[in-house]
Amino acid sequence: MNVVADVKTSSDQGLQEETLMPPVVVVGGGPVGTRAAQELSRRGRTVILFNAERWRPYNRVKLTPLLAGEEQVGQIYASDHFPRPGRVHRYDGVSVVDVDRENRLVALSSGRIQPYSKLILALGSRAFVPAIPGADLPGVFTFRNFDDAEALVARSMSARKVLVIGGGLLGLEAARGMAARGAAVTVVEHENRLMPRQLDLAAGNVLKERIEAIGISVLVGERVHEISGSSRVEKVVLGQDRVLEADTVIICTGVRANTQLAAGIGLSHRRGIVVDDSMRTDDDAIYAIGECVEHAGQIYGLVGPGYEQASIAVAHICDEEDATYLGSVPATKLKVIGADVFSMGDFESIEQQQDIKSFVFQPADGSVYRRLFVDRGRLVAALGVGDWPEATRLQQAIGKRQPVRFWQTARFARSGDLWPQGDDSVASWPREAIVCNCTGTTKGAVLDSITLGSQTLDDVRATTSANTVCGTCKPLILELLGQGDAPPEPVRWWRWLIGVSILGALAALATAILPRIALADTYATKDFWFSLWFDSLWKQYTGYTLLALTVSAAVIGLRKRIRLLGRLGSYDGWRLVHLTIGLACALGLVVHTGFRLGSNLNLLLMLSFLATLVFGAVAGFVKGADHALPDPGQGQGGATTVPKTLPLWVHILALWPLPVLLIIHIATVYAF
Ligand SMILES: Cc1cc2nc3c(=O)[nH]c(=O)nc-3n(C[C@H](O)[C@H](O)[C@H](O)COP(=O)(O)OP(=O)(O)OC[C@H]3O[C@@H](n4cnc5c(N)ncnc54)[C@H](O)[C@@H]3O)c2cc1C
Repeated sequence: MNVVADVKTSSDQGLQEETLMPPVVVVGGGPVGTRAAQELSRRGRTVILFNAERWRPYNRVKLTPLLAGEEQVGQIYASDHFPRPGRVHRYDGVSVVDVDRENRLVALSSGRIQPYSKLILALGSRAFVPAIPGADLPGVFTFRNFDDAEALVARSMSARKVLVIGGGLLGLEAARGMAARGAAVTVVEHENRLMPRQLDLAAGNVLKERIEAIGISVLVGERVHEISGSSRVEKVVLGQDRVLEADTVIICTGVRANTQLAAGIGLSHRRGIVVDDSMRTDDDAIYAIGECVEHAGQIYGLVGPGYEQASIAVAHICDEEDATYLGSVPATKLKVIGADVFSMGDFESIEQQQDIKSFVFQPADGSVYRRLFVDRGRLVAALGVGDWPEATRLQQAIGKRQPVRFWQTARFARSGDLWPQGDDSVASWPREAIVCNCTGTTKGAVLDSITLGSQTLDDVRATTSANTVCGTCKPLILELLGQGDAPPEPVRWWRWLIGVSILGALAALATAILPRIALADTYATKDFWFSLWFDSLWKQYTGYTLLALTVSAAVIGLRKRIRLLGRLGSYDGWRLVHLTIGLACALGLVVHTGFRLGSNLNLLLMLSFLATLVFGAVAGFVKGADHALPDPGQGQGGATTVPKTLPLWVHILALWPLPVLLIIHIATVYAF
């Protein structure tokens, strides 16, 4: 049989074992599938993980900072570390296309067959595109995966007027990303408020004001009827024939669970793949977890519940039959476009119930909005916009349906605090308090990790997986590490980055500024410099060396697309190699031209080359010194982060004409 294990050499002992005893197969390399594979490996299981996307598993939540230019590709990849004693073999760009349930085999897009002992489906969701006329026009995008983010980054270079359909979390994140790249952005939401799943009308209004204050237009209660344009998007038609001009439309109208595979093999499915309390489908050997799952009628669109489901499925596969998933309390604690948004509990259905009391705190300046829901004396939900220091404590209290006394609600209505003000620092929290909302990591788990030797944020991330999703809990973990006021961490080899960048910039600028080197005035003299710059053989040596350096720098610059480079070393290392080759190019240019800028096309070539080098060096310097440079956006993103990313974009722009100019240069040298 043509099994996947054939991919590796027959001397691979582990894979020989796999053919004897089938592994657990995980389908889906999103955060939840990856988490299941890690936990199985930690428990000594051999796992085969199929990831349909052509990219290494990445942190989907970080697509927004990537789109906004605040993080680079290498920074959003998920850790490749799978704990021992088990083993995980991951296959990127490979989908499971069919399952033979009777013989426990999966069929792959590569044409191969893989046996399994247990199968975990972690298929996630896809963007939902409503039937709006014109939704298939060029210039219309969705925002769900790496390919979408990449297409939007490319589009952002020319996008001027962006219209985002959907004012939920994703729509607002997409709006933030495009606004940070300088486009005029309008968000259109058909309900009467932003983030309608998480916020009530008053909270939605506070959020709207905050978003408008940073220059993003928001229209609520408006429906998009048509996207139109002759060959690409030109305008969007709203109700009552109101027309908005737009060159780019991003559709963020929700997601749909990927149920097609489950449907095709006869598993129960409704809005998601139906599972029981052990995360099992109606086939005993097949589990389903994450965003593709419907448990007790609920689908969760967040990472945290998916992680809880992964733990339960793994426990069952490892024979802990009493592990039970009782559902998660939907909890959102996010920074949306710089504003804190907190929503916990299903307030929409809670609001419909009888005997529910709600308490609101909203100071006159309108900067903050907080609302609590109390069911027969117990805290059941809360939502708010703006700073809410008690948010984490509230989350614990709602999770446990803690009782609330009348004097507490009176204090809340007066001051916005449910508990007496005291020490709110994480040091005063109980061990069971959740520090990382996305992964559900408690303060106790972080403290245990520190006791066992974790000294840095990266150590804590690796041992607890806290701070690996949205990143907002970083200050809390640093505080527990005793580094609360520590300055931002510099990138690796930052001194080298700065040094090489300065030298590269100086060498490139010298070519542009210094006068050409004087030469002997007769051919007869033929000194060294004369030979270097006029002897055709020497010119070819130096020219082709320069070409080779340029090509290798460009190839390394494309490292995000070259998987081999990713496997051969860290992103930081390749960045330093890229800059060092850039420096060599700058020196090579001096050797090849002798500070001569040339004329006509040669002059253009030199200017393009020098601009590429100088701005590349500035981008390298900014990266190396990033930890010490002031953050113009105070960490809030927005257009103000442009100063830091601008040199990189100019570097990339200046690079575009180079190949054509180089070809013309080489052709003319040989022609004349
Ligand atoms: C921009 C953005 C911001 C977000 N922000 C937050 C946030 O702040 N907090 C939060 O909690 N959540 C956030 N989310 C939601 C969060 O990303 C999802 O809840 C989470 O990714 C779900 O994980 P998953 O593994 O279940 O599914 P996914 O992440 O969707 O992964 C499923 C994977 O399975 C693959 N797959 C599907 N079918 C097959 C097949 N047949 N064979 C092989 N592979 C297959 C898919 O290609 C995909 O890669 C955000 C999402 C986005 C897009």
